[in-house]
Amino acid sequence: MAIDGAGSRARLTSQLRQEGISNDRVLSAMAAVPRHWFVDDVLGHKAYDNTALPIGEGQTISQPYIVARMTELLMRRGNLGKVLEIGTGSGYQTAVLAQLCGQVFSVERIKNLQYQARRRLQRLDLHNVQMKHGDGWQGWASKGPFDGIIVTAAPSSLPDELLTQLADGGVMVIPVGDEQQVLKVITRQENTFTVDDVEWVRFVPLISGSLL
Ligand code: SAH
Repeated sequence: MAIDGAGSRARLTSQLRQEGISNDRVLSAMAAVPRHWFVDDVLGHKAYDNTALPIGEGQTISQPYIVARMTELLMRRGNLGKVLEIGTGSGYQTAVLAQLCGQVFSVERIKNLQYQARRRLQRLDLHNVQMKHGDGWQGWASKGPFDGIIVTAAPSSLPDELLTQLADGGVMVIPVGDEQQVLKVITRQENTFTVDDVEWVRFVPLISGSLL
């Protein structure tokens, strides 16, 4: 059975609105991205359920609610020029960001996932994205500073290097913790960083160590 992308996405976005997502631009961006292209064909029928799904290599595509929530939090000070994403994974969050931000820089440590994500973004004609095979703990200093930083894997503590790459006035959205993780929003005003705890979440860990 072919997947009814548009209808399923409309149902998903109305569910997200009921769950408290109120930013219309975020909801429109999610309504425009075919999530079923970002998962294996055999999982296509689940692509518009509000759940995380496996993408291989022991990793997952985040739950749509979490993608929407993190994007909305990232945009709370308005539109963003340059955004750094750590943990490209399937590239789904990247595709949502690419519609809302000037330029997206995305770092992934697993080469195979990065390769597949790049192909999906090309298929969607999204050309304002640059990807790097690298260690997210280090960010991407040569492209910074960034108006927004979004981290889609959980470090046990805040990576200092990422804080230094946040622009003055910038916003970072990041889950922090081991088993129990808290989604944090960090805003920078000159050299003062304000941290707000938002909600409990569950992400795969931000790995320290070699690239795959
Ligand atoms: N936003 C992605 C979520 C992917 S899961 C999506 O919706 O598809 C998190 C990703 O972070 C995984 O692909 C994992 O390989 C990656 N990751 C984990 N540790 C990393 C690190 N140190 N540097 C870069 N990427 C990392």
